[in-house]
Amino acid sequence: MRKLIAILLLLVPVLVSAQFDKYFENRTMRVDYFHAGDASDDTYYIDEVIAEPFWGGSKVNLIDETNFGKYLVKVFDKASGTLIYSKSYSTLFGEWQTVDEAKSVQKSFSESVVFPYPKAAVTIVFCTKSFETGEYVEKYSYNIDPSDKCLIKQDNRHKYPVFEVHKGGDGDAAHKVDIVIVPDGYTASQMSLFKKDCEKFKKEFFGYEPYTSHKDDFNIHAVLAPSEESGVDEPCRGIWKNTVVSCSYWSLGSERYLMTTDNKALRDVAANAPYDQIYILVNSPKYGGGGIYNWYCTGVNSNKMAGKIIVHEFGHGFAGLGDEYVGGAEYNDFYNKKLEPADPNVTTLVNFDVKWKDMIEPGTPIPTPATAEYKDKVGVYEGAGYMSKDFYRPMQDCLMNHFQCESFCPVCQRAIVKMIEFYTK
Ligand SMILES: [Zn+2]
Repeated sequence: MRKLIAILLLLVPVLVSAQFDKYFENRTMRVDYFHAGDASDDTYYIDEVIAEPFWGGSKVNLIDETNFGKYLVKVFDKASGTLIYSKSYSTLFGEWQTVDEAKSVQKSFSESVVFPYPKAAVTIVFCTKSFETGEYVEKYSYNIDPSDKCLIKQDNRHKYPVFEVHKGGDGDAAHKVDIVIVPDGYTASQMSLFKKDCEKFKKEFFGYEPYTSHKDDFNIHAVLAPSEESGVDEPCRGIWKNTVVSCSYWSLGSERYLMTTDNKALRDVAANAPYDQIYILVNSPKYGGGGIYNWYCTGVNSNKMAGKIIVHEFGHGFAGLGDEYVGGAEYNDFYNKKLEPADPNVTTLVNFDVKWKDMIEPGTPIPTPATAEYKDKVGVYEGAGYMSKDFYRPMQDCLMNHFQCESFCPVCQRAIVKMIEFYTK
């Protein structure tokens, strides 16, 4: 009997990946679009459809049920109407909608969704989460027929050599979290510095739990894409550099927020390797970084906080973790306090049962006072998600809160492990 169960268990992944083979080829389809609007509304406009050479994602977990992101893309097999792929994600446009400028200006941002390359016609449905209800609302749908030779661009525009930074176990992208490191502000003569910085990235990244104990679950590739000039834009100081993916400080009005709106260049460079997550390593000593869920992360190479920036930003980009600090951002209505936020490490106590209630020792008061008595205890501490009131974090200290701390709190660690399992199991 035990033998039979073992055989059946072995068959499960085979059957599930047969589902992948039924609908998909082992490469990527990318749909570029413009996401336009203002503080109160958004619209999707298709730009172009591109074939990319690798698929870095899971072949088993094709439906994303986290709902951590502000957006959701759903891919349906057109003939049968079957949902064959979905991914939740957030974007810089979505954050921009919460800053003052968006109250009076309409803007458009280039964005992309990627999914395994379909064998037959598909319908792509773009959804935006409603601020009022927290539910995804369908905004736009688009049909793609992969046999349409004129529609899908096959020329990979920016081809660069790729450097293997880390290979976990057998290195099979289908069972690993694949990180692609994209350089920004490294010239051709600084590519050896970039390689060294990638080794430093690896050492720092795997220096923090739960990454230390999950080294074998990750692959890291780096694309050797040089920039014309060294360094990066600092608009408020009049410094402008011609770099390969155009990162800039002062994104959304915040000096340390180091992001890019050149989505197409970024995706073209990233496409040189299989990836689940994009990390832009910026050649600058100035403190800065950023991370958006299933979008991309950035961090600098030579600031003394570089290692902590990497894991903090990757916490946002990979595991959908929220910031556990108060203030420090230019956002209005980033969260709706009447709803339970999607972030696994922030709660409004509206529906705390789905969060970390099971990790709290009996007898711990809720909310928990931030006193010495509860210093290293999981609790519910007021102040999180930039807000001093009504939003709560799991521990007094965590790397998602501040950098005097040396580790992630247990709630953040559990969320990261869960996400590693989504990509690897
Ligand atoms: Zn935490």
